[in-house]
Amino acid sequence: MKLILLDQLSGASHLCFKSSMEEQRASGLTNGVLQFHNVGSKEIDIRNQIFCNRSLNMKNIIAVGFDMDYTLAQYKSETFESLAYEGTVRKLVYDLGYPKELLEWTFDWNYMVRGLVLDKKRGNILKMDRHKYVKVAYHGFKELSKEEKVEIYGTSLVRESYDEPAYALIDTLFSLAEAYMFAQLVDFKDNNPEKIPKGVDYGRMYKDVRSAVDLCHRDGTLKQMVAKEPHKYINEDSTIVPLIEMIRDSGRSTFLVTNSLWDYTNIVMNFLCGGRTVNGPLACNFDWLKYFDVVITGSAKPGFFHEESRANLFEVELESGMLINTDNGTPMTQIGDPSPKISLKSEDKACRVFQGGNVGHLHNLLSIESSSQVLYVGDHIYGDILRSKKVLGWRTMLVVPELAKEVELLWELRDWRKRLLLMKNELDSVDDMIHHLNWSLKFGDVNENDKHEMLSAVRDLEFKRDQERLNHQEAQRKIHQKFHKVWGQLMKTGCQSSRFAHQVERFACLYTSHVSNLSMYSPEKYYRPTEDLMSHESHILPL
Ligand code: IMP
Ligand code: MG
Repeated sequence: MKLILLDQLSGASHLCFKSSMEEQRASGLTNGVLQFHNVGSKEIDIRNQIFCNRSLNMKNIIAVGFDMDYTLAQYKSETFESLAYEGTVRKLVYDLGYPKELLEWTFDWNYMVRGLVLDKKRGNILKMDRHKYVKVAYHGFKELSKEEKVEIYGTSLVRESYDEPAYALIDTLFSLAEAYMFAQLVDFKDNNPEKIPKGVDYGRMYKDVRSAVDLCHRDGTLKQMVAKEPHKYINEDSTIVPLIEMIRDSGRSTFLVTNSLWDYTNIVMNFLCGGRTVNGPLACNFDWLKYFDVVITGSAKPGFFHEESRANLFEVELESGMLINTDNGTPMTQIGDPSPKISLKSEDKACRVFQGGNVGHLHNLLSIESSSQVLYVGDHIYGDILRSKKVLGWRTMLVVPELAKEVELLWELRDWRKRLLLMKNELDSVDDMIHHLNWSLKFGDVNENDKHEMLSAVRDLEFKRDQERLNHQEAQRKIHQKFHKVWGQLMKTGCQSSRFAHQVERFACLYTSHVSNLSMYSPEKYYRPTEDLMSHESHILPL
């Protein structure tokens, strides 16, 4: 990485971090043949590009906000999620009466992926397409056959919505450990029903896992460990500060809205923005606040995005972490105490830190007049993106770290995918020929001689079709397995968009693999989507 002067697209020049083509290639790519997108004078590795679902002109944006966990702070799943997993197991054993042998279980942090749905009652884990048809299903770790899938999920008269409370959506990286533990418990109960506490069914097991994970997040099990050794659990990231500086230099406000509380936020942001000694204890200060205009901790998203939410807004006293009652951001004087501890308006425009409140408070604090002037960057479709865009009208960018590998593989497998498409077209045309012949045989005026020949042609074609269908299925399976050995491509099921992809498309104006990909583009950029293509249009592509 090196510091370069970004192109002067907007008239103003901006300092920007950009890795050279060689550096981007060296950062993990083996065949070195990735696609690059040209932005002005720069070329951006496809893994770092920002993709656009809905046009967004940055000129209209006056404030850029960030979520913290898994957006600015990328946790190392192998250590952080393992910590959550181990904490959860201990709570299940010591607090909820599960057998001690759970303590020997291990966690495969690569196994579960986002976008899966847990069927709590049946103990199944599902991947579905954008129409909510179940395409891959496992009971614990055992794959369900096509017939089992159809029987359970394909025969009801009324379409299932696959939402809470009967189903749980694995839509944040925080949920991977609990999904894995649920699958393990389902497997364990099937093989050792006598070892599971009496009366505990799959639904109850899910509930126990959920409350144990929840407690790990709340009682310090996770946060104390991260606070002690942040470098062990969070990726160091020297691109965060230049990104925020670039946005602020472009004249925009910046803010942080996180569900984490102040003490933890301060530790994580110190780690990301400086104030650390390499691999040693973290020396915290408040210097990082200079990168923000307002920080809201304990925001209770997604409720925060409801303007009618009545959550009180408290100002946080930085040193003590104590909360001061405010009225719409203005500190309230206590009875008998004529001088509020914090001045009404900070003359030096220093960043103020709050807890709670709602989006109306934030708009007031930042003098936002229209919600379309705000761009919010988050990692959680439900927590960060759905309500903020759908209900409120904020513009949104979703951080999808999985995307870097996904686009890299798409590129590597492009010839395979082309072949798969040809195989599907060939299969379709053989199928059509069979139907045509059968139709003629049934209703056409065909003499005995022709009938004989046609029947023989049908048999040959049926043989060919069966072979081609098998070949197509096998090729499709192989391509999916290149992405993930169990669940396949994150954004696809078969040849359709996955439910996860559909949500990304509907709710995120922009999406990208890493928050600081923003710094590869001009802060004045007009993001324009690629043309939406309906099925009929994709058959008639202009050259
Ligand atoms: P954000 O992504 O910056 O808004 O912060 C997410 C916060 O939610 C982090 O402090 C997590 O520890 C916390 N969190 C994630 N999952 C759970 C849960 O299941 N229960 C309680 N807190 C959670
Ligand atoms: Mg987050």
